[in-house]
Amino acid sequence: MTDILASLFKECTVEDIDKVVYMLQGTVAPPFKGIEIGMGEKFVQQAVSNASGVSKEEVVKEYKTSGDLGIVVSDLLPKKEGTLTVSQVYDAFMKIATVSGKGTQEVKIKSLTELLKNSSPKEARYLVRIPLGKLRLGAGDATIIDALSVRTVGDKSMKAEIERAYNLCCDMGLVAKTLYTDRKAITNFGIKVGNPIKPALAERLSSVEEIIDKIGECYVEAKYDGFRIQLHKEGDKVELFSRRIERMTHMFPEIVQAAREQIKGDAIVEGETISYDESTGEFLPFQFTIRRKRKHGVEEMVEQYPVVYFTFDMLYNGQDLTKKPYIERRSILEQSISEGETIKVSEKIKTKDPEELKLFFDENIGRGLEGIVAKDLNAPYTAGARKFAWIKLKRSYKGELADTIDVTIVGYLAGRGARAKMVGALLGAVYDEESETFKTVAKVGSGMTEEQMKTLKQMLDEIRVENKPKNVDAIIVPDVWTHPQYVITVSADEITLSPSHTCGRVDELGYALRFPRMVSWIREDKKPEDSTTVKEIIEMYDMQKHAKTS
Ligand code: AMP
Repeated sequence: MTDILASLFKECTVEDIDKVVYMLQGTVAPPFKGIEIGMGEKFVQQAVSNASGVSKEEVVKEYKTSGDLGIVVSDLLPKKEGTLTVSQVYDAFMKIATVSGKGTQEVKIKSLTELLKNSSPKEARYLVRIPLGKLRLGAGDATIIDALSVRTVGDKSMKAEIERAYNLCCDMGLVAKTLYTDRKAITNFGIKVGNPIKPALAERLSSVEEIIDKIGECYVEAKYDGFRIQLHKEGDKVELFSRRIERMTHMFPEIVQAAREQIKGDAIVEGETISYDESTGEFLPFQFTIRRKRKHGVEEMVEQYPVVYFTFDMLYNGQDLTKKPYIERRSILEQSISEGETIKVSEKIKTKDPEELKLFFDENIGRGLEGIVAKDLNAPYTAGARKFAWIKLKRSYKGELADTIDVTIVGYLAGRGARAKMVGALLGAVYDEESETFKTVAKVGSGMTEEQMKTLKQMLDEIRVENKPKNVDAIIVPDVWTHPQYVITVSADEITLSPSHTCGRVDELGYALRFPRMVSWIREDKKPEDSTTVKEIIEMYDMQKHAKTS
């Protein structure tokens, strides 16, 4: 895949490269801008009918037989050479994505019709899959980065540099364009207010002693179970981004307002947002905070269940701070924020004593929090990487894994008999960063209410696919395969070795979760690629072995 992409990139001009990159990702702009091409099936059918001159009824009939409008349109269009350019295709999809107001649907249908009229049957086959969200090329960020490196220097040696630039702006089109314009600009790539930075992630260890052994004297902070927000402030303009790099500004108007009053100057700040009950002052579970995702009712939520934004890092204050050690960033953060009702700075202690760390941990568990995050005082901000700069320690119960696992649903086993309208068990997979594939690790059949099992069936049926997706590696064959899209959190008793799962599989044995149960609803804040990774499962397995023998 890398070689195919690299030869495509060699043919691209500086004018076209960003457009090509966005379209490879199935979109027309970096995902955080929230510009979506989506068009309903009915409208795409209408465009196919208009472009081919075949009646809508006939198009629908053909569609029912083949199940793919791509095949339908390539069968119906007259054979001819296509005349489209990258810009024409891109501009048409940009128009489809951004047109608003009266007559929107007509404009969309017309734009797609024009494109199809000017394309060859083969081109049309792929073009209609774009607004339907069914192109699914499977070229992940890592492959695009590899291919950009191969195109530029002939091998993958530029990968780290390109990846760094991408982690600092989350805009692959911009990175590619910069690379085509001036290679040195990639080396000197800096952060930009308004472009989200890929969040740093935490490693895990299983005891306070191990934490002190690993990083020595450190800051230890309360771990709040909320919604991670990266806040960008430039003058009075404030934007909020989720951990998935989605724009969330509409969700928390009180943070936007408070940022103007409580944060000094231009800034990029990170923290955890958590709802509380105005009448009791109690923190509410994550599921509650995420309800704000619905566009309606946000104002009432602000009244009844306001949020606190516990900031814990600062990446920019007019200057790029990401290379500075944490102790300095944290100090700048504390000086830049005047704490108030909505924006606070996370609680912390500084210690090198395991006993003191344990006491702080217990206190936080006692308050109903998840655990603690210990931070290496000397570490820079590790954008997009899971490093020992941050180490989490979570509460655990006897006979339970010390941390929960985020799995992507790749299919389900159907409920039987009276449960025919429900899922029986979900096939859960973790992410293998090296091969960019999902490897199964568990069949999750408990922890769900009947209502949830019904809803899951409906949701999963909408994204079902006929065969195992290309980027899924499995031995178990579920009744229904789904496109990897939804992430859930599960807890389990332990990690075992099993012949049925593909996670970390060597010599016919992979890793599997013993007694997995769902402990969250669909994690709207996580993308499939944000699932727990194969590498982490192996580390957790080793930690568990270690705990058993010590
Ligand atoms: P996890 O999602 O279990 O890997 O834990 C890491 C997450 O904990 C981060 O992504 C944050 O959303 C959250 N978190 C809560 N409190 C803190 C804190 N004080 N410092 C860093 N991360 C925190």
